[in-house]
Amino acid sequence: MVDQQVMERIKNCLAQGQRFAITTHVNPDGDGLGAEAALANFLEERGKDVYIFNSNPVPDNYDFLNPDKKFLTYDPRKHQEILLTVDYILIVDISDWQRLRQVGRDIRDISTTKICIDHHPSQEKVGEVRLIDQNACSTGEIVYQLIEYCGGPFNKTIAEALYTCLVTDTGSFKFSNTTAKSFEIAGKLIEHGANTHELYQKIYERQSYNKVKLFAYVLNNLHFEKSGRVAWFAVTYDVIENLGVQQNDTEGFSDYPRVIDGVEVTVMFVETEKGTTKVSLRSKGNVIINKIAQEFGGGGHPFAAGIMLNGGYKEYKDKLLSEVYRLFT
Ligand code: AMP
Ligand code: MN
Ligand code: MN
Repeated sequence: MVDQQVMERIKNCLAQGQRFAITTHVNPDGDGLGAEAALANFLEERGKDVYIFNSNPVPDNYDFLNPDKKFLTYDPRKHQEILLTVDYILIVDISDWQRLRQVGRDIRDISTTKICIDHHPSQEKVGEVRLIDQNACSTGEIVYQLIEYCGGPFNKTIAEALYTCLVTDTGSFKFSNTTAKSFEIAGKLIEHGANTHELYQKIYERQSYNKVKLFAYVLNNLHFEKSGRVAWFAVTYDVIENLGVQQNDTEGFSDYPRVIDGVEVTVMFVETEKGTTKVSLRSKGNVIINKIAQEFGGGGHPFAAGIMLNGGYKEYKDKLLSEVYRLFT
């Protein structure tokens, strides 16, 4: 449940402030971007000035959330002055300073009120005002309730942005975070104008052939351990470069091996350009994997978690996988 007192406080901040900055985590996904787009539109409709500063550009499949090119890739030389002088800063889909990168470093200790809206379990307290609901399927679900609490209005842009949050973070309403409330809110968003089929096509049916080839590579290079209960795979930087794809083209691949009968946990290693390795952990729901992510400096939800490691995947593979195997001994 979202806290009514906190909602009231945020409602007042949104009404009182004139200039707002919004940010989300590094390598933003549909939930973070959708929540930003919805809040930006809601505030702009009320005559506010809104700046969106992220660590990375909007991935191509989410470009429909960014028709006015409002999403800026944060560059302190160009944007710091604005960021440090807005009335409020909204931080969505993240409760972790480190994953806010330079934006996080620049705002952490300033006196501006920072409002965090999120659904991640976290040890960290990010922001002075925190609207957190770990039971929400997505940050979009919380933003929906906040906008409703503020009296709306909803419009097609907001509805489509929030539907993007829900559909992407629930794996199209398949994952264990999907609840009656997720469907209820999705239904309301359709009533407010979200075209679900068009959104499906925009988000999922515009992939490059090379991304699909990368997926074929992944399926051909799965490793099984613990009598088929663990499936892991690695995408090295060489593979990414050879196919001319981007690191975020692996989005969604870590979910897939769970379709295989008997697989309980999947582990994906992706080597990113800067000599770092991104790890995604997924569980079918019988074992909790975010504790392992936390041990390696990452985090996330009980059945979907991630880690960013410094170095190539081979440096960490054995150590990390042995922790996963321990879940099955
Ligand atoms: P991903 O594997 O990137 O789809 O992430 C799955 C979940 O783990 C999401 O809820 C992320 O927010 C969280 N997560 C991913 N990477 C990290 C990280 N480096 N640190 C903390 N949480 C993470
Ligand atoms: Mn996210
Ligand atoms: Mn999310």
